[in-house]
Amino acid sequence: MNPTSPNNPRQRVRIRVQGRVQGVGFRPTIYRAMTSRGCGGTIKNTPGGVEIEVEGNPETIHGIIENFSDLIPKRARIDDLTVDEELSPEGTSDFSIISSSSSGDSLLPIPPDLATCTDCKGELNNERDRRAGYPFNTCTCCGPRFTIARDVPFDRPTSAMDDFPLCEACQKEYNDPSDRRFHAQTMSCPDCGPSLTFTPVPSDDTTHPHPIADTRRMLVSGGIVAIKGLGGFHLACDATNASAVARIRKRKNRPHKPLAIMAADLSRCEDIGQINDGEKKLLTSPPSPIVLVRKRPDGPVVDLVAPGLQKIGIMLPYTPLHAQLFRSPDMPPALVMTSCNRSDEPIATSVDTVHDDLMDIVDGILWHNRPVENRCDDSLVASVNGTPLPMRRSRGYVPEPIILDMAGPSVFATGAMWKNTFAVTKGRRAFLSQHIGNVSDADNARHFQNTYERFSDLLNVSPETVVCDLHPDYPTTRFARELSEREGLNLMQVQHHHAHLASCLAEGEGTGPAIGVSMDGTGYGDDGCMWGGEFMVFDERDYQRRLHLEYVPMPGGDQAVLEPHRMALSHMKNAFADSEASRHMERYLDPATIDALANILNDSDLSPRTSSCGRLFDAVAALIGFGPEATYQGQAACELEAMCKPGEYGTYNYEMGKETIELGGIIRGVWEDLQKSVHPGIIATKFHHTTSDIILAGCGRLCEQTGIHTVALSGGVMQNTHLLDRLIPALQSRGLTVLSHSRVPPNDGGIALGQASIALSRLRPDDKHSKIG
Ligand code: ZN
Ligand code: ZN
Ligand code: FE
Repeated sequence: MNPTSPNNPRQRVRIRVQGRVQGVGFRPTIYRAMTSRGCGGTIKNTPGGVEIEVEGNPETIHGIIENFSDLIPKRARIDDLTVDEELSPEGTSDFSIISSSSSGDSLLPIPPDLATCTDCKGELNNERDRRAGYPFNTCTCCGPRFTIARDVPFDRPTSAMDDFPLCEACQKEYNDPSDRRFHAQTMSCPDCGPSLTFTPVPSDDTTHPHPIADTRRMLVSGGIVAIKGLGGFHLACDATNASAVARIRKRKNRPHKPLAIMAADLSRCEDIGQINDGEKKLLTSPPSPIVLVRKRPDGPVVDLVAPGLQKIGIMLPYTPLHAQLFRSPDMPPALVMTSCNRSDEPIATSVDTVHDDLMDIVDGILWHNRPVENRCDDSLVASVNGTPLPMRRSRGYVPEPIILDMAGPSVFATGAMWKNTFAVTKGRRAFLSQHIGNVSDADNARHFQNTYERFSDLLNVSPETVVCDLHPDYPTTRFARELSEREGLNLMQVQHHHAHLASCLAEGEGTGPAIGVSMDGTGYGDDGCMWGGEFMVFDERDYQRRLHLEYVPMPGGDQAVLEPHRMALSHMKNAFADSEASRHMERYLDPATIDALANILNDSDLSPRTSSCGRLFDAVAALIGFGPEATYQGQAACELEAMCKPGEYGTYNYEMGKETIELGGIIRGVWEDLQKSVHPGIIATKFHHTTSDIILAGCGRLCEQTGIHTVALSGGVMQNTHLLDRLIPALQSRGLTVLSHSRVPPNDGGIALGQASIALSRLRPDDKHSKIG
C-alpha cells in the first residue's frame, strides 16, 4: 500500500473477492459495513465474484482490508482476495450497489441451494406476517440458487425468478438498506411470487384452491403425490403407512432399494433414528442433505422403507413448501420422499413429464410455476466419527468447486458409469457436476451431455483435454473418444482405482506419494482384469499396484453383480476342491444351476477375473443367506453390513502372499461357521473385522517397504461405516495418517475429481517425473 501523507487524507482501492460471494447476501452486508464506516464506493457482482471499490481515510481502508473476513455474511466463503490497485479518490462518501457486470472471467460464482433460514421460518409461522405460510419464502441467506440459475453472475435477471417481477411492497424491501431483504435476489411474496397448483391424477377439471390442504389429504389417505421441490419432483407418501410404501415400491418398480424420508422436524427425526451430534449438525446444515442414521427399532417408520438395513436416510424440510406441508396435526411424522422417476432415469423436473410419463405412478401432483433450471437430486451423507462421509454430492453442495493444489489448462473429466458425476476444471478449481446417475441409460446420457454443455457455458471454458476411465465400454469413455475426435481434444485415460485414490488426495489438496487402499466394486485394470481390492503406492500422477486381493472368475461378468450367489460359487470353487464346492453350493442352488454356472465360470471369455472386494462381500452375503437377486447395486454388501453385531468374535484366516492376498481361508472359515450354525450376524462381523485386518496388514507392509506413513482410503466399500469405524482408529494407532473422504464420495460419484487431478498433474510441464517408480 502506498504511504499516505497528510495531504492525501483519502484513499481508494479495488478489492476483488472470489469464493462463495453471490446469492448469500454479500453485497448488502458489505454495503452496510462500508456505510457504517463512512466509506464511499461501489460493489458489484462479476462472473468471477464481486468487485468492490472503496474509499475513505487510509486507516479505515487499512482496517477493512486487514479484517475483511470479519465483514462478510456467515454463509459466504472467501477463496481468494486481491487488493490490486491504488485508484485516485473520487471524493465520494456514498456507497452503492451497482449493476452487475457480465464481462470478465467466469468462476461459476453461483451458490448451491440453501435450506430455509431461521428468520424465514419465523415469518412462515407468524400469522401476522405478510408471508405467513408462504411456500416460496426466501431471503439473502436462504432459498434456491443453483437449481434456478440461468447464467452468471447470480442475480434475479439471470435466474428463474426473472419470471416474477417484484410487487411494490417487495421492491421497497429490496431497496431498503435496513431491511433484511435488501438486494435479496430470490425474494418474493404471495402477491408477486410463484404459485402452487394441485392436480389430481387423472385430472378432474375442477379447481383446487387449497393445494397444500388437498395434498395433505391425499397423503394422509395413503396416496402418492409428486411434489415439485428445488431440483425436481419427489414422490411422496406416508412413511408410517405400510400399504402406501408398498404401493410406491410397486409402482416405481423398486422392490428393496432404501427410500429417503423427510421428517417434520428434528424431534421427529429423533423418534425415528438414533441421532448423534455429527448427524444433527449435518441434518440442520444449509445444504440440508439426506443423512444416514441408525433406525430405532421401535420407531414409527415402517420397515419397508429400508428393508434389511439398520440405517435410514432422513432429511428435514428444506423449503418453506415442505415445512408448510407438515404444518398440520393430521400429517404423519415423516413422508417418503424419493426422486420422481422410473428407476435409473433422471428425476422429472416439469409437470408435463410427470403428467405424460408417470401418470401410472402418482395419484396427484403438487407443482408450481417456477422452472427448475438445473436438475438436482438430494445429496446423501453419513457421519463417521463426527466427520461427514458423502455418498452422493448434489443439491446443496453443487456447483461449489473443490480447490486443487495445482492449476492448469481446462480439463473435462467424464467420470465412470454408475453414480456418474463429471468434473470441469478452471485454474485450480474443479467443478463437479450434480449427480447424473447411471449413464448407460439413454436419458441420463442426454442429461450428462446437456449438463456438460451447461457447465462449460457458465464457466466459459472449452477444455483442451478430456479424461475418462480405462474401461473400453463405459459410455463416458465412448463419449470422451468421440469428443476428442470431433473437437481435436487431447484424450487421456486413467485407471479406475488410481482415480478413486487421487480423488481422496485431491479433496485434501494433497499430492502424495501415499499408500492407497481402494476397496471397490469393479474397475478396469491395466491387465484387462476387473480390479477392486487394490493396495497401491501412488501420487497425483502415477501409481504402482503393490498388492491385491487374489483373482477369482466373475461368472458372466456384470450379471454376477445382480446375482451374488454367482460370486459365492466362484469363491467356493477357489476355496475348496471342485466337486466339494459344488456339493456345498447345493445348500443354495439346484445341481443343474450349479453345473450351468460352473460352465460359465470356466469360460474365460464369459467370466473376467476379478480382485474386487465388493464382490467378495457379495459372496459372503450370499453364503450366509442373502436371496437370489440383488435389486440395487451393493444390496448384498449393505445387508451384510447391517447384520453386524457389536462385539469381538474373532476373525477368519487369510494368506498374505508376495503380490496377492489369498482368500480361501476366509471362505472356508465362513463355511465352517455355517456348519456349526453360528449366528449370521457373528459371521458378518467376523468377516468385516477380517477385511479391516487385511487392510491394516497390507498398509503395514507397504509402510515398511516404502517409509510412507500416509494412507488414502477410497472405493465403494469405503462407504461401509462399520468397517471404517474399526479401520480408521486402528490405522491411526499404528502411527499412520489416514486420508478418508469428506467432500466427495468414495464411490464412483467422486471419481471425476481424481481423473481431473491426475490429468492436470500429467499436463504440468515443470516436473516431468512422478515421485512413483
Ligand atoms: Zn431466509
Ligand atoms: Zn411481492
Ligand atoms: Fe469404483
